[in-house]
Amino acid sequence: MITEHHLHSPIQPPRRTLMGPGPSDVSPSVLSAMASPTVGHLDPYFLQIMDEVQDMLRTLFHTTNELTLAVSGTGSAGMEACVVNLLEPGDKIVVCTNGVFGGRMADVASRIGAEVVQIERPFGEVFSVEEVGEVVKKEQPKVVGIVHAETSTGAVQSLKEISEVVHEADALLLVDCVTSLGGMPVKIDEWNIDAAYSGTQKCLSCPPGLAPVTFSSRATAAMDARKTKVSSWYLDMSMVRAYWGGSRAYHHTAPINMNFALHQALRLVLDEGMENRFSRHYANHCALKAGLQAMGIQFAVADDHQLPMLNAVKIPDGIDDATIRSQLLNWFGIEIGGGLGPMKGKTWRIGLMGESSQSSHVLLFLAALDQCLLHAGYQLTPGAGVAAANDFYRTTITD
Ligand SMILES: *Cc1c(COP(=O)(O)O)cnc(C)c1O
Repeated sequence: MITEHHLHSPIQPPRRTLMGPGPSDVSPSVLSAMASPTVGHLDPYFLQIMDEVQDMLRTLFHTTNELTLAVSGTGSAGMEACVVNLLEPGDKIVVCTNGVFGGRMADVASRIGAEVVQIERPFGEVFSVEEVGEVVKKEQPKVVGIVHAETSTGAVQSLKEISEVVHEADALLLVDCVTSLGGMPVKIDEWNIDAAYSGTQKCLSCPPGLAPVTFSSRATAAMDARKTKVSSWYLDMSMVRAYWGGSRAYHHTAPINMNFALHQALRLVLDEGMENRFSRHYANHCALKAGLQAMGIQFAVADDHQLPMLNAVKIPDGIDDATIRSQLLNWFGIEIGGGLGPMKGKTWRIGLMGESSQSSHVLLFLAALDQCLLHAGYQLTPGAGVAAANDFYRTTITD
């Protein structure tokens, strides 16, 4: 029975080491920014914070796009904001689906009456310029949607050449950057991306709750030329942008304290330096990979398109997915992710995102996995994973 005392006990979450597909560990300074006094959503102080958030997002997205802001909601709200603003009923979108998130984008588009054409690759694989070019030429869509970093599979999609074939067909390119932003370069202007969305809880290491988005002038022109109202009142950029930009007209109350947190998280990214941050993500990925390989564990994605921040690996034969993940959580406080869709029960997804991309996390995880696997009767040389990762750090990291 629930007693009165239980109902009123304070929030006391367990300490975890977050090494799953998101959320990632959050820096204490981001948490304390979030606990700052709440001000009004039109307070001059808050308006300045909004301007600075927009500025820092432009830097991180490598763009001069004026329409760059943080949508209220998680990464999926950013996805929905882009899709519903760019498409009207009957408009055609080609969605490149090689994992869960491409599939989600197609679902969102179909719900607003868009004509959805999906091209598919098996989980873990990526799209070639040729296959996208061929479909886009044939279908002549208004928008082409693709995922930069497929968190469900651990694969990175290269975008620059695909962007060229999309624009040759005069379509708009929409990119899911939820997992890539803050962990690897996302070059909106150089790659000619028309609309992109991200989320706070992956490589930005801020709690889930906001979705950075950016729209090119081509995308805003397409939005301005709409004949129908955007199907979502809440996510209608024509109103949201008036609050973030010029007139500051009230639309909905911004999640004030979430924006404080994002502001601090972005400061941490820029203080570290984007190049340093991306190298850190890559180095920890390499160390983890060296360690796992020494333990006989293989990646589920080919070498040349593995994500640094999301490592999808094959669960060894005879090892039970759920048992190992619950031991990691209960014995060591480590959260990793299981496989999704066709990868369920077959892969583990080990996140090294933002604050969670640390050598201490890599070494702890390898040591913990070593113990869980030995407990399950898996044949390995005890300590081999940690030794290989240490070897990588000792010989590669000089400072
Ligand atoms: C996490 C994720 C999303 C969805 O973000 P939520 O914060 O869960 O709403 C979308 N796309 C990708 C690639 C993601 O990794």
